[in-house]
Amino acid sequence: MPHFIIVGAGECGARTAFALREKGFDGDITLIGAEPVAPYERPPLSKEGLIHAHPPKFVAALERYAQQGIDLRLGIDATDIDTLGKVVTLADGQKLGYDKLLLATGASARSFPGIAGTGERIRMLRTHADALALRTALHPGRHIAIIGGGFIGLELAATARKLGADATVIEGLSRVLKRGVPEAVAEVITLRHREEGVDVRCGETIIGVEDRTDCAIIRLASGEAISADVVLVGIGAQPNVALAEKAGLAIDNGIAVNDRLETSAADVYAAGDCCSFPLALYGGRRVRLECWRNAQEQGTLAAANLLGTRNSISAVPWFWSDQHDLTLQIAGLADGAATMLRRDLGEEAFILFHLDETGRLLAASGIGRGNAVARDIRLAEMLIAARACPDPMALTASHIKLKSLLAA
Ligand SMILES: Cc1cc2nc3c(=O)[nH]c(=O)nc-3n(C[C@H](O)[C@H](O)[C@H](O)COP(=O)(O)OP(=O)(O)OC[C@H]3O[C@@H](n4cnc5c(N)ncnc54)[C@H](O)[C@@H]3O)c2cc1C
Repeated sequence: MPHFIIVGAGECGARTAFALREKGFDGDITLIGAEPVAPYERPPLSKEGLIHAHPPKFVAALERYAQQGIDLRLGIDATDIDTLGKVVTLADGQKLGYDKLLLATGASARSFPGIAGTGERIRMLRTHADALALRTALHPGRHIAIIGGGFIGLELAATARKLGADATVIEGLSRVLKRGVPEAVAEVITLRHREEGVDVRCGETIIGVEDRTDCAIIRLASGEAISADVVLVGIGAQPNVALAEKAGLAIDNGIAVNDRLETSAADVYAAGDCCSFPLALYGGRRVRLECWRNAQEQGTLAAANLLGTRNSISAVPWFWSDQHDLTLQIAGLADGAATMLRRDLGEEAFILFHLDETGRLLAASGIGRGNAVARDIRLAEMLIAARACPDPMALTASHIKLKSLLAA
């Protein structure tokens, strides 16, 4: 009986395990997870899901793993891989032989330089345990200071306000989401946060953070000291590559895989947040994505390729974020764009299209209330996948349906 091991029981690892069964694999599957809880969705941890943080939103009910014959081992790390002998060693010394191995080890929250780890009042947000710890501090009369105006920090600021806590966001760059979205989108988001009472501060340099018994203090270069009940360090994530690195696998901003998710070692694959891969749609550029749909899609692709197909990554990157009543959606990769065009969708919703110098649509970023931009972003995604060069006039004219551009 062939034995497939998946290291990392997150979104991607769990999806791969179920996809293997859906595709008819009847060998053994072992899914190893460092966290003590069954695989769960991370996006709710900073959004509505934080309000009722326990239990997390599981990827699948616990009994389904047993029903599907998936040996789920929780609360234990894989510590070593012998890629020649095809053996994975667990933290308790157990050795498991494999025929094929998938690394879906995800990413970890980046710590703030100068702060060693987290203290009682200085927190990160990556896991369900992190969310539970943060939740206890989010009440009326409490103050959370968030270091970093990125997606997770801003989502948490919105949730904190919903829970009645005060929230301050401290961003070092001149505006929030500088690496993630165009300025016009960031402006809408910043305004909405300020309307909801979030104190958004940009261009601030933090020179120190103190974790005291009574409060946490953030010291700014301006001389100001911001006192808070809890501080969230929300300055991005880094791929979990230690295990792969120790096993001698190639690393390049994540575990380096080819477009079929194969690592540099035979029969070892990697997928999800932990890996970087060449994206043919963007000229084979190596990218690493930290988004939920990518983790799902690569899980399905990994399952197919573990079973011997040789499919390539073809999906268009897609990301969303919910903040207050706004939903932001981004399809594609905008870097390298030469032109940006705006399409207004009414009720303050709009989409920005990013085109290269040949007129090819590279990406679309949309913002609006609820589902306002969802359908058009979906159509933009199809145009991006088709490498279309849509008529710029038609892109900006909201009375012309994007669907008609797809047909063209
Ligand atoms: C708070 C938050 C909000 C988010 N919101 C959004 C959103 O709105 N939109 C969006 O598109 N994406 C969002 N994301 C990103 C999305 O959740 C991730 O892209 C997705 O979870 C990645 O899945 P993964 O399985 O690759 O990695 P992970 O979910 O990180 O899972 C990896 C698992 O592997 C385990 N592991 C690592 N090393 C080992 C080892 N050696 N042995 C055993 N186990 C190991 C880890 O403990 C972890 O449980 C959010 C993420 C967070 C944290």
